[in-house]
Amino acid sequence: MSLGCPKALVDSEQILTRLRAEGYEISSSYDGADLVVVNTCGFIDAAVEESLDAIGEALAENGKVIVTGCLGAREGLIRELHPKVLAITGPHAADEVLQHVHTHLPQPHDPFTSLVPPQGIRLTPQHFAYLKISEGCNHSCTFCIIPSLRGPLVSRPIGDVLLEAKNLAAAGVRELLVISQDTSAYGVDLKYRTGFHGGRPIKTRLKELCEAMAEFGIWVRLHYVYPYPSVDELIPLMAEGKLLPYLDVPFQHANARILKAMRRPASSENNLERIRAWRAICPDITIRSTFITGFPGETEAEFEELLAFIEEARLDRVGCFAYSPVDGAEANALPGAVPDEVREERRRRLMDVQEDISAELLAAKIGREITVLVDAVDDEGVIARSSADAPEIDGLVFVNDFFDAEPGDFLQVRVVDADEHDLYAEPLE
Ligand code: SF4
Repeated sequence: MSLGCPKALVDSEQILTRLRAEGYEISSSYDGADLVVVNTCGFIDAAVEESLDAIGEALAENGKVIVTGCLGAREGLIRELHPKVLAITGPHAADEVLQHVHTHLPQPHDPFTSLVPPQGIRLTPQHFAYLKISEGCNHSCTFCIIPSLRGPLVSRPIGDVLLEAKNLAAAGVRELLVISQDTSAYGVDLKYRTGFHGGRPIKTRLKELCEAMAEFGIWVRLHYVYPYPSVDELIPLMAEGKLLPYLDVPFQHANARILKAMRRPASSENNLERIRAWRAICPDITIRSTFITGFPGETEAEFEELLAFIEEARLDRVGCFAYSPVDGAEANALPGAVPDEVREERRRRLMDVQEDISAELLAAKIGREITVLVDAVDDEGVIARSSADAPEIDGLVFVNDFFDAEPGDFLQVRVVDADEHDLYAEPLE
């Protein structure tokens, strides 16, 4: 019911439009309505009188009444005469009116989300999804311009992240890939503030996030983890099977001077020792990393130190890039630019060493029984991945001549062969 001037009429139109958008039906009679909204006028005495009468009539005919509009500013007067009204708002208060309506009549649908599944719209296949836990970065690596593009670290509230993860798991996602610019720094900007998940308090911190995600019973894989000391507390979770035994740690180099010139986070850590300690706790851990060859000023001796690290660390997966100057990056101004062909030649040497290591590590898996997640089934059989293989960047596990599976299934298989990148397996009974 709409009383008063054209401004009040527009308020009524806005309220009706919002109600319709949320799926409520508009009724032209009291008895057809579940609830009445009376938009009042309070300008002159006669208008006040008319509004109070209208509220009385709506209460008598229907019983459930929300009052809005100019007379709403005089709540005491309305309550004195009509104590049974459900709620009172002032004029131009569509949001408040809608909230009161929601309290008494469940919203048929939310126009912002009801056409979208709870897990949102995904561009990845149904069985895995990327989960971004923060945006931006607090570091200033000299070869990178991301902080100037994306700003400083802003962690998402842990309750939001866990709700998204839970919705994804409920929608059939079997593997969550946790991403950000700096995953181990999650929560630093919020001083590890306590948030809530399922009514329980929980700190905005990577370890707590991983522990909570373990409850969803799906694979959780961590990417872009810098080797801060706090990463050590994640390894026992991997050993206990709560988190995939997989760490994507972008070391970028092994020589202390170059790491300092790169201004890398956690550059003073003794990474070889850390890797040994991680493997002692979780022998099955897969470590992936990326490196840059030919960073400005890199000498042959410094590059050889990197090669020695690669030989010693025996990482499972390695990506390597010849240094490429990014427009606007500080490193471009550093002295000692390395010629293009030397950068590339060092990249090739590093990858040659690594290819042998990868092949040996994969060959050592022959005979082992492992769990794989099916990505696809084609006319040669099943294409899957193990805990050691992130989609797109790592290897695959081929289960040839086996077709009885669908994307998203977990399979138990025995590894029967390997090359430098992939494994070949047969299903277990
Ligand atoms: S490379 Fe360095 S500066 Fe760039 S996003 Fe990663 S940590 Fe931040």
